[in-house]
Amino acid sequence: MLRGPRAEIDLSALSHNLGHLKSLSGGLPAIAVVKADAYGHGATQISKKLVGEGVSRLGVAFLSEALLLRESGIRAEIIVFFDVEEPALFFEQKLTPVINSIKEARAFSRESVKRNKEIEIHVKVDTGMGRMGMNGGNPEKEILEIAALPGLKVRWLMSHFSDVSPGDPGYARLQLDKMNALRTALAQKGVKTLCHMSSSASTLLVPESHMDSLRVGLLLYGCIPFPDPEENRPSKKWDFRPVMKVKTNIRAIKKFKKGEAISYERSFITGRDSLIAVLPVGYADGYHRMMSNKAHVVINGKRAPQVGRICMDLTMIDVSDIEGVSEGDEVVLLGDGLGHLELASWAGTNPYEIMTSLGKGARRSYLV
Ligand SMILES: *Cc1c(COP(=O)(O)O)cnc(C)c1O
Repeated sequence: MLRGPRAEIDLSALSHNLGHLKSLSGGLPAIAVVKADAYGHGATQISKKLVGEGVSRLGVAFLSEALLLRESGIRAEIIVFFDVEEPALFFEQKLTPVINSIKEARAFSRESVKRNKEIEIHVKVDTGMGRMGMNGGNPEKEILEIAALPGLKVRWLMSHFSDVSPGDPGYARLQLDKMNALRTALAQKGVKTLCHMSSSASTLLVPESHMDSLRVGLLLYGCIPFPDPEENRPSKKWDFRPVMKVKTNIRAIKKFKKGEAISYERSFITGRDSLIAVLPVGYADGYHRMMSNKAHVVINGKRAPQVGRICMDLTMIDVSDIEGVSEGDEVVLLGDGLGHLELASWAGTNPYEIMTSLGKGARRSYLV
């Protein structure tokens, strides 16, 4: 048996989600975020599908990710969010940089003049995220300076939300106001830009933030980033379908008497005579150890509890209540009603980390 988890990536769910996003935003274009290997779904396959469905802009975190996409034949615009170290490569590979300062802008301007070739840039402003982007000082003045540098075309202004929650989008509105004020001030001085700011949560909760393009990842992969505020489970208001399903097969089934200890540190003691199945999956595959004694899996359409400490390569589940279960049976770790948000709550993390870590560990196959 091949070890570890398998991820089934449903590309038709991806298309569905893209279509749903379009209808929610009145047909706005979206920068499809495919960083971190498309959140664990495989950047090349996901990007090819999205481009085939009409997406014209992709977003990645680092240059290395953009180069891989170019190598695999993807010609769409690729915006590199966090990496400007080698301006020459941006020109050679026709990539789009996100500029965070005058200093970064100058490096691209020099390269542009050297090659006698204009480059379109996105300028990032920190409106309250406290991470990348121009902050403090006088961003308006700096952007005017950048716009005056030879060879650069400041086409887009971008910013990133820090805190968009269903309960209180107040901080997001504050960030949005800053962005709008800056855009207006720049336009009055002759620097007219388009803007993108809205990632998944704000796309659903703050429609005014859609501006000229969305910039989303999580929704494309079929996950809403927050639970339904009323029901505390995935919201039914929107129809995003999970793209990734993760499965494995039972490696062994063992009989234990009541009162026996399961796995490291004896964190689980059988409360009855039990059938315990061992899965060839562990935290090395992204099945978080923090989920120990909290997680559930699905076998033959029925939930079974995970018991004892999750190990590096192995995980135990209690299958005493699963009729007719046998070694080799398929076990669903994510999917079949086990959502990213539920796993995230067991692991004390967010759905992003569930996707990226489980997706990275799994052997992937693609359903078209
Ligand atoms: C990851 C990322 C996004 C996408 O966020 P989602 O919540 O997945 O939609 C958008 N913009 C930037 C700058 C990001 O780093």
